[in-house]
Amino acid sequence: MLCCDEFSKFLGILNSSENTYDVAGRALDEVSELLGIGKVTSHFYLPPTVTTPQGSESLTTLYDRVGTVPGEPSYEKSYRTMEGAAVNYNVWPLGRVTMWTEEELKDIDTVLDLIFMHNGRFRLISKMKQVAMTNYLTGLPNSGGLMARLRNYYDEGILLKYNGFCFNLRSFGLINRKFGQREGDSIIKRYAAFLQSIMEPGEILSHFGGDNFAALILKDRTEEFLNILGGTIIYGNMDGKRVPVRIEAVAGVLEIDSTLQNPRQILEQCTLAMQVAKNTLSKPYFFATEEMKTRAFREKRISAHFREAIRDEEFQIYYQPKVDTCTYRVVGAEALVRWFWDGRIVPPADFIPLVEREGSVTDLDLYMLEHACRDIADWCARGLDPVTVSVNFSRRDISDPLLAQKVMNIINNSGIDRKYIQIEVTETTSEDECAKLIGFLNLMNSLGIETAIDDFGSGYSSLNTLRNFAVNVIKIDRSFIANDSITIKDEIVLHNIIDMARELKIDVITEGVEHWDQLQLLKKVGCYTIQGFLFDRPMPKEEFEKRLERKIYDPAKIKDA
Ligand code: C2E
Ligand code: MG
Ligand code: MG
Repeated sequence: MLCCDEFSKFLGILNSSENTYDVAGRALDEVSELLGIGKVTSHFYLPPTVTTPQGSESLTTLYDRVGTVPGEPSYEKSYRTMEGAAVNYNVWPLGRVTMWTEEELKDIDTVLDLIFMHNGRFRLISKMKQVAMTNYLTGLPNSGGLMARLRNYYDEGILLKYNGFCFNLRSFGLINRKFGQREGDSIIKRYAAFLQSIMEPGEILSHFGGDNFAALILKDRTEEFLNILGGTIIYGNMDGKRVPVRIEAVAGVLEIDSTLQNPRQILEQCTLAMQVAKNTLSKPYFFATEEMKTRAFREKRISAHFREAIRDEEFQIYYQPKVDTCTYRVVGAEALVRWFWDGRIVPPADFIPLVEREGSVTDLDLYMLEHACRDIADWCARGLDPVTVSVNFSRRDISDPLLAQKVMNIINNSGIDRKYIQIEVTETTSEDECAKLIGFLNLMNSLGIETAIDDFGSGYSSLNTLRNFAVNVIKIDRSFIANDSITIKDEIVLHNIIDMARELKIDVITEGVEHWDQLQLLKKVGCYTIQGFLFDRPMPKEEFEKRLERKIYDPAKIKDA
């Protein structure tokens, strides 16, 4: 009878891994003395089936130790698996045993039952993993399967021998329509089988699904492979006849080199390059450039570090004054974010679009609002007579129905008067966004918080903006005045926008003013508030405080600067 101690050790080892072949030997070692087991083999035989047409057969030695009685096995036990395979275990005795007792044979049966059950579970898990890593149509590794293999190659240090490819079949929708979905699938399968047949050892072909593929190809075969992707004839069946189909692919290629940081970059950069290739008419492929590599790398670093940066307050507010051009007084300021990271300032253009895409820009905008309120409270406490500060809110923020409430809470918690805060949002083009923006602006209006439309005139719906949006201010985009030669037509348009806004009781400010003559022109067309490098660039809080102390600029100095 199996003693509890050995048996629980046997079970403990068996349970320590899901892979039966890794642990069966060590587990059997715990009971071999007691039961007189010298050697155990497992013979697996699966006849051909629909899902495994080639069948499967293997003989594995699970356990073999010195002192085993040579010759034929003395005991054999057979099982049948769920998938219809036969499994035979053969057991040889240890030297000292000539024949097992009935009691011992019962225990050996129990041990074999457990190994069989363990192995059944292992095969199931392996099958599930394989299915999860494989494209069902072509049986090729899918993106998960490809990544797993790329990781292995990376760990083994052999990736540098290869170039990465992502490719998409041109006009496959047409082929599907012409041949029907089912034959379309068969054509994809034939195409995949053809590509697979030309793979060299070590090369990998992967099918992500649909008409999207990827591959890892030996460097010196790059040109050959691109030629094949450029056009390959596969046959398709139509009305019982075989017809040739030319399959052309558009490819992005990454020449893998030692700057590669991790295997995921291969797919990222190949995909980027493939997007470029799709928009290039001259050739059906594109090699990832240095610029793409650094951009992808930089974006990855930014998104990985962004949350920590908010927590660690790496973002600072810079203030850019808004100036009344009649009195040359500072009448307001815009809060602009600056990210201090690794001893360098990262400009907003490098990370705002990215965090907008990733949906985390709201955290940043509320952070900026909170810090602006904190600075204003500080100025009030020190008797510095603050000006209204405008804070930028991204379009992405507007879809949060609680945004107005969050803005209000931050202002209230800071204890400052709400007149010191203005919210800047940009014009929108989509109808859905527009409805949300109107709702948000109305709410702000009813709460008594000022709003401004940023970059006015750079969108398409400027006139509707004036009509529909309950805003206090429009900020005319610098593109209106950035031109070297502003034409009479530009002047007329500006003049009319400004007049119309005034009639609607909307204030106008122009941003991006760099030159004295631009300022003169703006005065001529009726815009008297400006923001731009002509007066000041955005500056840190401490420097801006000097502008608050001495609020008036000297026009003579500005003109001559
Ligand atoms: P914006 O809101 O239109 O801000 C004005 C931009 O024009 C600022 O660039 C400012 O430095 C720049 N500028 C001001 N005067 C001049 C000038 O005379 N000449 C020229 N060439 N440029 C001038 P900045 O700070 O790089 O910000 C760029 C954009 O990033 C902003 O455009 C805004 O859309 C976004 N941004 C900045 N801070 C935030 C923020 O806290 N939240 C959000 N959501 N977006 C922000
Ligand atoms: Mg702005
Ligand atoms: Mg702007």
